[in-house]
Amino acid sequence: MDSDAPGKLMASPRPVPSLDGQDAPLWRANLTRLLVRISRDALQGDALEPILKGVCDCLVAELPVPIASIILLNESGTHFIHEVWAGDLTLDSAPIAIGWPVTRGAAGRCARLGRAQLIRDVEADPDYEAGNPLVRSEYLIPIRHGQRLHGVLNIESERSDFFDAEACAVFDAVADLIAAAIHFARLAEDLQHANRKLKQLSMIDGLTGIANRRRFDQCLHQQWERCARNGEPLALLMVDADAFKPLNDALGHLHGDECLREIAGACSQYATEKEDLAARYGGEELVLLLPGRTLAVATRIAETLRAAIFALNLPHPASPVASCVTVSVGVAVLYPTPTCQPEQLTAVADRAMYAAKTGGRNRVAALLGAATVA
Ligand code: GH3
Ligand code: MG
Ligand code: MG
Repeated sequence: MDSDAPGKLMASPRPVPSLDGQDAPLWRANLTRLLVRISRDALQGDALEPILKGVCDCLVAELPVPIASIILLNESGTHFIHEVWAGDLTLDSAPIAIGWPVTRGAAGRCARLGRAQLIRDVEADPDYEAGNPLVRSEYLIPIRHGQRLHGVLNIESERSDFFDAEACAVFDAVADLIAAAIHFARLAEDLQHANRKLKQLSMIDGLTGIANRRRFDQCLHQQWERCARNGEPLALLMVDADAFKPLNDALGHLHGDECLREIAGACSQYATEKEDLAARYGGEELVLLLPGRTLAVATRIAETLRAAIFALNLPHPASPVASCVTVSVGVAVLYPTPTCQPEQLTAVADRAMYAAKTGGRNRVAALLGAATVA
């Protein structure tokens, strides 16, 4: 064994059949059975670790092989970072050392050269690091898929004539199967990662970078149920930019976009609790969902937010209200019940926002709603 696994291995002697003469057909049958089993397991397993362990177990179970291991490389191929093994081994309490560079050992040589290494006499090999005194020969095969070298398959034998051409060809095929299994497992991992990323992106508004309407709808339902369970109020602020169309007309859509980003940034500042959410509801309307806030508290937050947006002093030469961008904020608070629809909260906040508009804009209007069964 060429891994630096202090005290890791201690093989027990095992009967080794003759590989020629009358045992030859049995030997060939074993090799075939091995390939069949490994192809089935490697291609049908789900998680990588059990697949690799299964291959090592299979090698020592089907053949007179005292030790089989799969040593995986890091992404850049400079270090071995993980080892899976099986065999007649006794482990002491010392942890398996892992993370050794490919400049070391026979496995390192195999990885560096990218070629299989057949060591017929381990004692004569300068790179062999003894781990098991009974081992006489070793075969190391690169585990490669396309251009990517994933690691090395290591098989050790107690006899020097074990690795004949037929056995080596089978072990080469086993290494290919392992490479395919690793490739597919990593592909599946990448796919899961990409899906998670995509899911995150599907919840974000592209212009402002805050949550989008889809995320808001999802969150509103979740918080509605949670507040109903806990008997807590649920507050919603509907924030609508005043005279946004005249702003676009006066300074252009790009300027309007920038103002929307600023307003969204301001809203996010007031989503201070874990369950709070600032989202773009649509167009120039944003929302701030504040679970657990009473009408008085939510109204105070709305007023502070309105003042903060005013204080941004974003130029608005066409506003009927001020010389800068302003917002009208509708505040609604409901005590959710499981039998009522969360959309009621949005409807009340919308009414409140409309009241703020008709009241003169650049102001806050608040309504305490009663959840009603539809
Ligand atoms: P009010 O004070 O009554 O809210 O007036 P308003 O002009 O803001 O309201 P109205 O509903 O008439 O127009 C909304 C405007 O918001 C029109 C639309 O061009 C603008 N708008 C919506 N989405 C975007 C956007 O993503 N970027 C920009 N720049 N403008 C947007
Ligand atoms: Mg609007
Ligand atoms: Mg508007």
